Amino acid sequence: MTDARTFTTTDAGIPVESDEHSLTVGPDGPVLLQDSYLIEQMAQFNRERIPERQPHAKGSGAFGRFEVTGDVTAHTKAALFQPGATTEMAARFSTVAGERGSPDTWRDPRGFALKFYTSDGNYDMVGNNTPVFFVKDPMKFQHFIRSQKRRADNNLRDHDMQWDFWTLSPESAHQVTWLMGDRGIPRSWRHMNGYTSHTYMWINEAGEESWVKYHFKTDQGVEFLPQQEADQIAATDTDYHMRDLFEHIREGDHPSWTLYVQVMPYGDAPGYRFNPFDLTKVWPHGDYPLIEVGRMTLDRNATDNHTEIEQLAFQPNNFVPGIGPSPDRMLLGRLFSYADAHRYRLGANYQQIPVNAPIVPVHSYSKDGAMRIQKVSDPVYAPNSKGGPVADVSRVGRIPSWHADGDIMRAAYVDHAEDDDWGQAGTLVREVLDDAARERLVDNVSGHLLDAVTEPVLQRAFEYWRNVDKTVGEQIESQVRAKA
Ligand code: NDP
Repeated sequence: MTDARTFTTTDAGIPVESDEHSLTVGPDGPVLLQDSYLIEQMAQFNRERIPERQPHAKGSGAFGRFEVTGDVTAHTKAALFQPGATTEMAARFSTVAGERGSPDTWRDPRGFALKFYTSDGNYDMVGNNTPVFFVKDPMKFQHFIRSQKRRADNNLRDHDMQWDFWTLSPESAHQVTWLMGDRGIPRSWRHMNGYTSHTYMWINEAGEESWVKYHFKTDQGVEFLPQQEADQIAATDTDYHMRDLFEHIREGDHPSWTLYVQVMPYGDAPGYRFNPFDLTKVWPHGDYPLIEVGRMTLDRNATDNHTEIEQLAFQPNNFVPGIGPSPDRMLLGRLFSYADAHRYRLGANYQQIPVNAPIVPVHSYSKDGAMRIQKVSDPVYAPNSKGGPVADVSRVGRIPSWHADGDIMRAAYVDHAEDDDWGQAGTLVREVLDDAARERLVDNVSGHLLDAVTEPVLQRAFEYWRNVDKTVGEQIESQVRAKA
């Protein structure tokens, strides 16, 4: 009778004699270098960790599908948004500043990254749970993230450093207001919205272009954690959000989000009251109402977090026909930086890792490199007369484009009629938050400022908040002065 158990092998498939005893000379003698299985175990272990993401290191995700429920064919020909389409997808949620082991419930924006395995190749959306961002030029992104991470001398995070950067970057006010409010700590990943934040271009079958912003609204309802509860959870369960998502999916309680878009006619952009490509601004719903597109549902957990989530590589330059970039400078910077980060973390052939591979055949001329597993065949160059793949511009359609003409320079965006750093943050404080939410905002900011912020930075922080809203600024100053 054969034994039905699975027997251990080396990574080369060779049966091993023991998982417990090293090869030695006698029971008390030295361990032998010829114990290849022991050496393989130690060597593999030493190489298990790959560089963590910089930023968005702490997170997790799941798999599911996107189903179209609306009709946006007037605006895009993208296959995944056509009526009746269902597309397999992956999602990853994360905090921004913390490392891989950091608590899920720290106050921070949350990443909301999606990969759609479409019939036209992979389409990635790298959003957040907030519709805006702290900076609007990619030149400032690296500095911003460093200011939120750790000091050089003591390797500690430092509120003084954070507020120093924010108060010297007044364009951050809208996002900082958002962050310090209730939505700065979601109750779970299931209870938060996701936004592209960026503006994208959509192109319809006729080649007509428009500008879009995506809003994934949670069907579970938006819920937040008050600061004190979040602090308690951070001290007892660092993986609170990761656990919540995994357990709900495992129990069959599948979270879903309804996707809406705001669509701006192409020609509206130059005259719109806000620069529609400025990542620190929203388009008020009253100007461009939400249009329903479809629903995403997450119904499958990973079985191996490393291969399916840690190696899941999103890159916003993965556009499919019908979707393209916009003049949003932050987006244009990210079109380079994400794929570059994956080449560093995962290697040049990261798109061959199963979770990153498209469901359609790949016919590129990429070749060789470390860890390549997909075979290439001749011809290995284009153009060729040997039957190799050829580009089909007629099928892909019009290249996403806009008019750009000017002298080469380093300069800020030109303000539109109502562009400033404080206006939309003030609207959020005065017109969206109720009295209780405003009080929590004042408490959250004051608590944050009381933690090691030095006098000149404090002065600038009070002025910053008075610019957002005079009353809120005065309340923050008096609360900090009373407790300092
Ligand atoms: P609306 O009254 O139409 O929309 C206000 C939106 O604010 C809501 O739809 C909701 O977004 C969001 N919101 C509710 N509570 C909070 C909170 N505690 N923290 C952050 N956002 C919250 O007004 P406008 O469209 O004219 O926008 C007014 C302000 O609302 C903006 O300046 C911006 O700060 C904020 N906002 C606007 C969004 C937009 O895309 N227009 C999106 C999110 C916030 P949701 O419905 O997405 O949950």
